[in-house]
Amino acid sequence: MSNRSIDLSDALYDYLLATSLREPEVMRRLRAETAGLPGSMMQIAPEQGQFMALLVQLMGARRCLEIGTFTGYSALAVARALPADGRLVACDVDAETMAIGRRYWDEAGVAGKIDSRIGPAVETLDEMLNAGEAESYDFAFIDADKSNYDDYYERALKLLRPGGLIAVDNVLWGGSVIDPGKKDPDTLAIRALNEKIKEDDRVVCSLVPIGDGLMLAHKQTDYHS
Ligand code: CA
Repeated sequence: MSNRSIDLSDALYDYLLATSLREPEVMRRLRAETAGLPGSMMQIAPEQGQFMALLVQLMGARRCLEIGTFTGYSALAVARALPADGRLVACDVDAETMAIGRRYWDEAGVAGKIDSRIGPAVETLDEMLNAGEAESYDFAFIDADKSNYDDYYERALKLLRPGGLIAVDNVLWGGSVIDPGKKDPDTLAIRALNEKIKEDDRVVCSLVPIGDGLMLAHKQTDYHS
């Protein structure tokens, strides 16, 4: 027994999946196809997809935002948890990987809930803000290029309603965050955002050691962007 988060051995991780993962076949196949692609490490873990779907359902979220969609596994997990009139805006620079996702979204019957936007996400988010969409989203998942993480966080915070939730992926960055020799822009950006969120009075936070680390930042219910 321990009063810190447990280390997951391979066997214990297998047990976790065997006893809790409810992954539909269409999601399992998307994961298998993605595993054969360059950049497959960018795909989230299946238990993380299930966790995010649970959060979305728990919040009763209807409008969601995703910054960094890749082949669409997380988008599929979130879209399945949304009500029929729910919407997910999925941002990515890569139309090819987004097209892979769309095949599976179609098959799963959720493509109508997903509005994909191809292009640099900072521009897409600024367009949304300029269109008057501030404070209209319930949930935002940030999982794109790490050097822009702070830009994504600030824009997502504006787009969220008070009481909305941001989930930031890869915040433990394979352990690089504690390696003093790692000074590349991605690692520096992740460290800086983690430290900022810890002190950010606009949100309540928790760093969940699932996948590569998921920082949850819940926008204060009395904070208006
Ligand atoms: Ca990621």
